Amino acid sequence: MSDTEKKTAVITGAAGGIGQAISRQFIANGFRVIAGDADQAGLDRLAAKLNRSEQTVWDKAGDLRNKAYCEELIDYAVQTTGRLDVLVNNAGIITRGNILETTDEDWERTFDINLTSIFYTCRKAIGHMKGYGGGAIVNIASCWGLYPGPGHAAYCTSKAAVASFSKCLGRDHAPDGIRVNAVCPNEVNTPMIRTGFVRRGFDPDTAIAELNKSVPLGRIAEPEDIADVVFFLCSDAARYIAGTAVEVNGAKPVY
Ligand code: NAD
Repeated sequence: MSDTEKKTAVITGAAGGIGQAISRQFIANGFRVIAGDADQAGLDRLAAKLNRSEQTVWDKAGDLRNKAYCEELIDYAVQTTGRLDVLVNNAGIITRGNILETTDEDWERTFDINLTSIFYTCRKAIGHMKGYGGGAIVNIASCWGLYPGPGHAAYCTSKAAVASFSKCLGRDHAPDGIRVNAVCPNEVNTPMIRTGFVRRGFDPDTAIAELNKSVPLGRIAEPEDIADVVFFLCSDAARYIAGTAVEVNGAKPVY
């Protein structure tokens, strides 16, 4: 791909476990990546790893609870690279607790980050993509949004909304050449799941080894397993896939 042909992907949560893998996958396939995250130090580390012989990653740190940041992230991609081909809304938080354990603040924070930020980035991105004749958007939901697990009322509900929102957009904007899909991982070996184990007093390696036994394919997902599916959905190989929520679960049923 020549420099002028290089496509641009915006990836949120790019400093996190799955976000780094998605960023690496797009760079390996010749994309320019606009990396968003609240963690500036994490973005610096990502850019140091990926910007080798030429600049391929531009970072823009900010908090997705801020509408202006969500919209600026998309505009920044267009201003910096002159185009916008892909948006991956990957950032998210997991909030534990049943309804009695969930505060107003927990609920609002979960929905602001997991859902409302995606509304702002998608609206802005679709406006640009329509002008360029198309694009692809992937929103990271969760198997727990489709089949809620116990004790995570806010998280599961927010991810159910992400899956439904992606299907709505996929249907509405297919005629514009914009394919919108959701990816629904089950357990993935990232800081999100590992810190959860530490908080509950478990050794994360032992807990993950135990969890691996519950997956028919023999192990929980690595971030690259999710990144490959995200890249596929944004590629021409998935040209007839839109408005769907793809489960990536190693054949593990939630119940
Ligand atoms: P992670 O915690 O490693 O990464 C999440 C990233 O999002 C972090 O870098 C964090 O800084 C960023 N982020 C959080 N809040 C933000 C905010 N307000 N503004 C900007 N950035 C913010 O988590 P991960 O496991 O890589 O998860 C990525 C996505 O995959 C999430 O949407 C998560 O819900 C989803 N998911 C993860 C799993 C799993 O088992 N890890 C399972 C299903 C779905």
